[in-house]
Amino acid sequence: MFHCFRWAVPTLQILNITRTSRNQEEIDCLYDFFVTKSANFIIDSQIDMEKTVAFQKNARNIFFHILTRCNLKCRHCYINPQHHGKQTLPVETVKKWLKALVHEKNASNLIFIGGEPTLHPGLHLLIKAARRMGYASITVDTNGFFFNHILEKVAPEELDYFSVGLDGSCEEINDLIRGKGSYNKCVAGIEKALAKGFKVSLIYTVSQLNIRDLKNMPGFLKVIGIDRFFIQVIGIRGRSAQNEKHKLQLTRKEWAAVPRVAARAARLGIHVTYPKVFLDCSERFECAALVAENYFVFPNGRVYQCPLGEDFPLHSYVFEGDKLTPTPPINERNLFQLSIPEGCVMNKLIQPGNLSYDKQGRPKYKIACCLLKQEIKP
Ligand code: SF4
Ligand code: SF4
Repeated sequence: MFHCFRWAVPTLQILNITRTSRNQEEIDCLYDFFVTKSANFIIDSQIDMEKTVAFQKNARNIFFHILTRCNLKCRHCYINPQHHGKQTLPVETVKKWLKALVHEKNASNLIFIGGEPTLHPGLHLLIKAARRMGYASITVDTNGFFFNHILEKVAPEELDYFSVGLDGSCEEINDLIRGKGSYNKCVAGIEKALAKGFKVSLIYTVSQLNIRDLKNMPGFLKVIGIDRFFIQVIGIRGRSAQNEKHKLQLTRKEWAAVPRVAARAARLGIHVTYPKVFLDCSERFECAALVAENYFVFPNGRVYQCPLGEDFPLHSYVFEGDKLTPTPPINERNLFQLSIPEGCVMNKLIQPGNLSYDKQGRPKYKIACCLLKQEIKP
């Protein structure tokens, strides 16, 4: 049986209880989050969901933002210095946090990210240290500028992948999103990395600005020699939330092009990963935060389990000193438990522009966990 209630009421009660445990700025921000986002938002409180989508239960993915500074200003950038910090973490601090996050038994995949991680002068030391600590895989997400001679300071066998962000198959499309000159610089960087023997994958963030160009990417990847392709969906966070709300997100109909392009890329021998995004109402929904381990670590010490809440002080953990410490309620963990007909609670709160309802007010489909991926192997 379903029990509906206004979820903001209990959560604000929790917030009042914990006033002493948070600073005023965080309380104001949380209050704003729950009051402004919760208007008329009714939830189904049934918690005992059926599990349909298989996340790897023992998988641990650590997305480590070692700094937030970047040389580019992409239109969809989710970095929010107010909530993520502005500092470049010292090498010794990153090492201590990496030690706290690695797991003795379960494989931990590490992704160094920023900002632009190659702007960190100690990135090569961090890659080598992470290898020694036993991280199962190490990836660097980069914009392809490869600062600080990183391609000379690490060897291909020390790193699993450089994952390079490029949002267009040509200068015109990519530079509209990522800034003038970025296409040429990025493509030159990819070519240099490949020539040195590094494995390179490409990340393409799909939005209204480049969905029509996506079909050109399989051919582009084949020509340049990349065999791993990640298609991301635009998140309405950070810069895209401030400036262009509702203009970048794709409708379900528009999204239908993505699996088609993915299949075509796979036929060319490219391994493609893309988010599921839309679920039929009959498909079962599962929140990754309840079954897998994902840590999104920021330079100010905040650690989130879900990327969608990163514009708010909803983080599950915080590094206090060098100790990973759970935060008091209310935080994102309180939201993961909630069940709504639309699927992902955080999506409905943060980026509801991708939802659609029938005349009776029922959602036409569910939104999947943003961490749920589809994979097509060649
Ligand atoms: S999306 Fe990445 S490359 Fe672009 S501005 Fe943000 S951090 Fe820099
Ligand atoms: S995106 Fe939604 S479903 Fe996935 S972890 Fe976040 S709250 Fe859970």
